[in-house]
Amino acid sequence: MFFLGKQVHVIGAATAGLVAAKRIAQRGIAVNVYDQKAVLGHPVRASGILSISGLSTLGVNYSSAITNTLYGANIHSATKTMRILSSKPIAHVLDRKRLNEVCRDEAEVAGASVTVGKRVSGAELERMRACGIVVGADGAVSTVAKHFSLGEINRMLITYKAEFNIQVPDRNVVDLFFDNGKYPGLFAWLCPNAQDLLEVGVGIDSTSGNAKRTFEAFLREPQISSIIGKNRPVSEGASVIPMTLRKRFVDGKRRIMLIGDAAGQVKPTTGGGIVFGGNGAIIAADTIHDYYEGTAKLDEYQKRFLGAYGLDLKLHSMINRLYSSLGTRGVGTMIEACNMLGVDKFLSIYGDMDRPSLVLRRFFLRSLA
Ligand SMILES: Cc1cc2nc3c(=O)[nH]c(=O)nc-3n(C[C@H](O)[C@H](O)[C@H](O)COP(=O)(O)OP(=O)(O)OC[C@H]3O[C@@H](n4cnc5c(N)ncnc54)[C@H](O)[C@@H]3O)c2cc1C
Repeated sequence: MFFLGKQVHVIGAATAGLVAAKRIAQRGIAVNVYDQKAVLGHPVRASGILSISGLSTLGVNYSSAITNTLYGANIHSATKTMRILSSKPIAHVLDRKRLNEVCRDEAEVAGASVTVGKRVSGAELERMRACGIVVGADGAVSTVAKHFSLGEINRMLITYKAEFNIQVPDRNVVDLFFDNGKYPGLFAWLCPNAQDLLEVGVGIDSTSGNAKRTFEAFLREPQISSIIGKNRPVSEGASVIPMTLRKRFVDGKRRIMLIGDAAGQVKPTTGGGIVFGGNGAIIAADTIHDYYEGTAKLDEYQKRFLGAYGLDLKLHSMINRLYSSLGTRGVGTMIEACNMLGVDKFLSIYGDMDRPSLVLRRFFLRSLA
């Protein structure tokens, strides 16, 4: 059934916007999606590492976007390393442009209309709101949030990353470098992407300095320069990642909703936002359906999202705050303690990249057993 005269405008056609559009169209509601980019997913913000369990919740047929499969991570401090290695695949590295194409195809097949090369202005947002619901899926620096004064995202990270044509021997493991002195707020990473493509990046708190200079210093570290050698990047660029939820990501009275990075639906431990943002999109779409059915108010969306993911985001935030409070030596001591207590082995079997609440539950159940 199509809801006559009901209309949703989604601003931003990356994963969150397209997952929402598909779900809204599947629920029988007319939906238009707009993106300022002429080619969706380009330029690429970064490779996406997504847990296989998280990916399965998005309902996207992502298999053609897989460029690598990961079984674990080496977590390095300045002096110590913890290796978490599962016997099963735990995450895929995805080609973000291809993922966007798949999401767009699926949204269009469901009945959504997708317009590219169109930047939506404040005046247009007003016109769209007058004849329907506006969903801002337009990233951390959201025009929709700004235009409708939905408040700020209090903490942002800046990232700088580049891709190099390099093959690494251990393709199924990502390397993460934690040193709060050098990468305050997040970390640096080496991620084997497609067969001969290695992504190298750093993320730091936006108040802590210059991400590009931090990145250049990271490349000069002996451990990294021995891998990169004289290779030149094939692509590089800076971006931002929101580190907190926006205090308010729906205004039911004015029929405005925010999803994905625009809402701050991102894990503060790693900056990963595709799974949480995609699930925010699904919850927003279902709330829109219930609103048009007359069984829910749009404001329910925020409560539903926090009910489903609030605890996990809080736990991610606590872990990130703990890390941010430690110096270089403190991080090393923590990793050493984790190795001594067998945390590496526990996480290899019972870890979950997205849902620390599930890891805690598994820990307590095992302790009881
Ligand atoms: C370096 C880096 C590494 C990352 N690694 C990972 C990872 O490994 N795993 C993971 O899960 N996440 C990762 N992330 C986070 C992930 O990229 C984001 O969470 C995700 O892209 C958010 O998707 P989104 O759809 O909410 O918004 P975005 O991807 O930010 O897309 C917003 C879209 O809105 C469009 N837009 C903006 N304003 C307008 C306007 N006014 N009119 C029309 N269109 C507009 C933009 O063109 C864009 O296409 C990483 C981010 C960075 C920067």
